[in-house]
Amino acid sequence: MPAPKKTKPAATAEITAADAKTDKPAKPAAKKSTGQAKLEKLGLKSNMDLVLHLPMRYEDETRIVPIAEAGFMTGAPVQVEGVITSCEVQYRPRRQLVATLVDDSGQLVMRFLNFYGSQQKQLAEGKRIRARGEVRHGFFGAEMVHPVYKAVEEGEALPTALTPVYPSGEGLPQAYLRKAIASALSRVDWRDTLPADLREQLGLAPFESSVKLLHNPPPDADENALMERSHPAWTRVKFDELLAQQLSMKRAQQARRSRGAPALPVVGELSAALLQALPFQLTGAQQRVLEEIRADLRASYPMQRLLQGDVGSGKTVVAAMAAAQAIDSGYQAALMAPTEILAEQHFRKIASWLEPLGVRVAWLTGSLKKKEKNEALADIASGYARLIVGTHALIQEGVDFARLGLVIVDEQHRFGVGQRLALRNKGMDAADAAIGEADTATVPHQLMMSATPIPRTLAMTYYADLEVSVIDELPPGRTPIVTRIIDQNRRDEVIARVHAAALEGRQVYWVCPLIEESEVLQLQTATETHDMLAAALPDLRVGLVHGRMKPAEKQVVMDGFSRGEIHVLVATTVIEVGVDVPNASLMVIEHAERFGLSQLHQLRGRVGRGAAASVCLLLYQAPLGPVAKQRLATMRETNDGFEIARRDLEIRGPGEFLGARQSGQAMLRFADLQTDQWLVDAARDAAQRLLQEDLATVEAHLTRWLGGREEFLKA
Ligand code: ADP
Ligand code: MG
Repeated sequence: MPAPKKTKPAATAEITAADAKTDKPAKPAAKKSTGQAKLEKLGLKSNMDLVLHLPMRYEDETRIVPIAEAGFMTGAPVQVEGVITSCEVQYRPRRQLVATLVDDSGQLVMRFLNFYGSQQKQLAEGKRIRARGEVRHGFFGAEMVHPVYKAVEEGEALPTALTPVYPSGEGLPQAYLRKAIASALSRVDWRDTLPADLREQLGLAPFESSVKLLHNPPPDADENALMERSHPAWTRVKFDELLAQQLSMKRAQQARRSRGAPALPVVGELSAALLQALPFQLTGAQQRVLEEIRADLRASYPMQRLLQGDVGSGKTVVAAMAAAQAIDSGYQAALMAPTEILAEQHFRKIASWLEPLGVRVAWLTGSLKKKEKNEALADIASGYARLIVGTHALIQEGVDFARLGLVIVDEQHRFGVGQRLALRNKGMDAADAAIGEADTATVPHQLMMSATPIPRTLAMTYYADLEVSVIDELPPGRTPIVTRIIDQNRRDEVIARVHAAALEGRQVYWVCPLIEESEVLQLQTATETHDMLAAALPDLRVGLVHGRMKPAEKQVVMDGFSRGEIHVLVATTVIEVGVDVPNASLMVIEHAERFGLSQLHQLRGRVGRGAAASVCLLLYQAPLGPVAKQRLATMRETNDGFEIARRDLEIRGPGEFLGARQSGQAMLRFADLQTDQWLVDAARDAAQRLLQEDLATVEAHLTRWLGGREEFLKA
């Protein structure tokens, strides 16, 4: 027998579901609590959480089809009922359980390629079984492979509503979810949170009947409208969801405005000196966004601004200028980046600008030696360090800022909402301590940066209360990157090209394929690619950088590449964000078809940073699926990050585009911004009105829809 695999065969899940369907006596308490844990993992804690966990589709178990007719209804699952006349384990060619089910009209075979011993008992001769599945015509007549089944009594009543199928987690059977939800349905407070006049005005159905209908639609319900979510019951639920989102956004905004932040009004000596010291002039766009940020920082309520700018547009220097203002005003600033490579690069660059001007910049990551770490922590706590650059280590326990006035989060989409909150809250404690008042909690200003541009409408709807600044211009002297799509069979030509480029003094990135399933495999591929290239290019220096290397080792390689001593850098996706080596002008990405659009754009953005014309070669393995084809074509057609984001949104839809991390619990589950725009508008207007006229309703509605999760919206 092969070693047990981690992933269960699909069939097991079905059997488990079927298992649970047989109306066994209540499970022992221990079992129940693991079910509870699994519910919680899905975010289903309160009764209302369960009630608002709506089906993704339905199964029609309200009818039984005679076996003789079932065979004609191919393609759709049907339900049959009969008595087992035989059940045996067969070995042809592999071990399987085969049972024959007979009714008045005919017979069919139920076949299980994976099964438990207990199933043989459940399907013993003489048992009456209700089975549901697709009928196929096999060699031995009609058969169902892996039907869902349960034992029934003769004449047992059929359900009168469609059976809901819920989004579920691993090991959480539908039957368990159904039971939990059914019980929650009988226990929640059904009060309608919308005032009657608002409901009437918008023609919305009542909450209770809508939700109950969605869980248990009568057999005559319009199944199409249910599936497409255009049914009036769906409309009501979507409106409620959007209203909750709009309400909490507006409230977060009010809360922020009423909150204190240290005013950072001084654009003084350091700001001027830094500007002087830069080896270039700010672009018009950089100046404009800097002015927007400067104005925010002067206010005594917290800035919450997203700085968007395409890859290479020069966000770092804007961040440094914002930090200079905080320092000029007598406060500290912290800059957090998602990877150690990126954080270290920021640290070096910014320290090289600021330390000559007499500003102590501290460096903090998890990999520091104890002594270095303690030193950094002491400098941060005493206020001697004015700017602190680091990774997640910044939000760990034991990091205490003396006077944190500004928090900057680079590549903010790579952080969870909770992590951004944590950094802000650090500043909150410190600021409190600094002014010695615990009741008037102030929070630091926040600047978030991202090269993954979020289309504006989406940003407004999804991000709670966020100001957006956009750098819409690249620094001068850049030549656009030329992108080519190349079949991987032509790898030799690509290697020749790498060789030629290196001889001209240009540097090359070679990005290894993404292997999501296995980090080990990814590592192996990277090492092999490195060896292959080193052998093929004996006169060049080929370096390797990957995620499993120690930070110090990584740094040695990155330094070598920065200084031009390494010609070709073989890398896993660790170089995806932010790495800046202007002399690199050729980018090769292997198995480009496995990457997402924004990832490809980020990777490509590692070149095209200097004056040399840059080239990006996307190697792919044929055949390409339609989505991959679309993605690669987009990469070839445009270098514009905003255009790429727009197409990405088109290809993937807003939910996937932002991802769960991005939006915390604020993610819309039911409403769709593209098809439900009118509802968004209606919800926005209603939110405005309710906040002015009816705070009790606001409270009730938010409690129902967000429970305790509102904090996330304020991040
Ligand atoms: P990103 O917006 O992707 O974070 P960076 O801040 O890393 O971009 O900047 C990319 C490169 O452009 C860096 O080498 C930076 O020093 C340089 N740069 C930034 N602003 C300017 C400018 N105004 N003129 C010339 N070069 C600039
Ligand atoms: Mg950057």
